[in-house]
Amino acid sequence: MKVSEKISSREAIALEDKHGAHNYHPLPVVLERGEGVYVWDVEGKKYFDFLSAYSAVNQGHCHPKIVGAMHEQAQKLTLTSRAFHNDILGKYEKYATEYFGFDKLLPMNTGAEAVETAIKLARKWAYERKGVEETEAQIIVCENNFHGRTTTIISFSNDEGARKNFGPYTPGFIKIPYNDPEALEEALKNNDNIAGFLVEPIQGEAGVYVPAQGFLSRAKELCEQHNVLFIADEVQTGIARTGKLLAVDHENVKPDVLILGKAISGGVYPVSAVLANDDIMNVIKPGQHGSTFGGNPVACAVAMAALDVIKDENLAENAERLGNLFRRKMDDYIRSSNIVTLVRGKGLLNAIVINDSEDSSTAWDICMKLKENGLLAKPTHGNIIRFAPPLVMNEEQLLECVSIIEKTLREFEK
Ligand SMILES: *Cc1c(COP(=O)(O)O)cnc(C)c1O
Repeated sequence: MKVSEKISSREAIALEDKHGAHNYHPLPVVLERGEGVYVWDVEGKKYFDFLSAYSAVNQGHCHPKIVGAMHEQAQKLTLTSRAFHNDILGKYEKYATEYFGFDKLLPMNTGAEAVETAIKLARKWAYERKGVEETEAQIIVCENNFHGRTTTIISFSNDEGARKNFGPYTPGFIKIPYNDPEALEEALKNNDNIAGFLVEPIQGEAGVYVPAQGFLSRAKELCEQHNVLFIADEVQTGIARTGKLLAVDHENVKPDVLILGKAISGGVYPVSAVLANDDIMNVIKPGQHGSTFGGNPVACAVAMAALDVIKDENLAENAERLGNLFRRKMDDYIRSSNIVTLVRGKGLLNAIVINDSEDSSTAWDICMKLKENGLLAKPTHGNIIRFAPPLVMNEEQLLECVSIIEKTLREFEK
């Protein structure tokens, strides 16, 4: 079968089912093409993308500037490994560190790899700078976190599906409730072995849980008091998604370690990064961490173009404005609804909570109906549906989406 051969949705799904591992449960839609806020399936039906590949496609599908940068670089040089220098990695590192305000960047490919990198960095920093006894370092994490799928990361997840039968688990993590500064203070008290506090500024996968205003700044303050690194996982919330460049910017918090992924490439190529200042990043020496593809020339070109687009097109401001409009419209709807109990979020990272039990299929059924009506979204956990369109959306498109969503929800009103 040639890559270019035309196949139906049914055939494509059957092929995946037979030949692919069943590690996902996708909505039954087979996409073939994307442009801006739209995607098309193999039968030619057009949809609004309201997931944006989990906020990787903030700049919109196939952004010509990003794809152009990739195309241009791919014809010149794609991979050298870090055994040799290439002429673009340094330019990218200068660009990105100035862009986010850190001394140094460590390039990786996926979000999970960047989280792993941050964990290694925090541990090494604890042993070599803070004076923690070797193998004793601990990292504080939050309940209902999502930081990726590697063995270490799932060790501190409390998602049964992500964890069960994947042990033995990596030790060295302490779990506290999210959005609970007292619990953090308690965990930090009388414990000199804490290396870092790893936190999502908004818990995306868990269902777009927005912490109380002041939680992040208080957490940062506590970390400073106890000489503990504040590690922000902005893989999903970063790069303008929540209406600021970073979600921590809403509270003017500067993380000690910043983890980025997803939209740092505009969804064009796997790119992730860890940023920190010299006093932290310099604990890593040659041979102690790396990746064959991390910092490859194509990734660097793509990331620079993707970050340019965020500023050139004022996507943070747009996300802020349209997010406020979206939640206002949803709140108006919810007042007369008994199927949706609430909408929450920041910028264009939002979710609605469906008035049914967590193990009901209602959220899934609504997403199936949304698909029929031309809009793609997916439940996060049970009865929660995340709404995260590309940030290049305009107001007219957003209002069209709101009316699709309302019309669909109305079919489920009891
Ligand atoms: C998606 C995500 C990750 C993992 O990224 P991958 O590229 O899938 O490995 C980590 N942290 C957060 C907050 C995420 O949303």
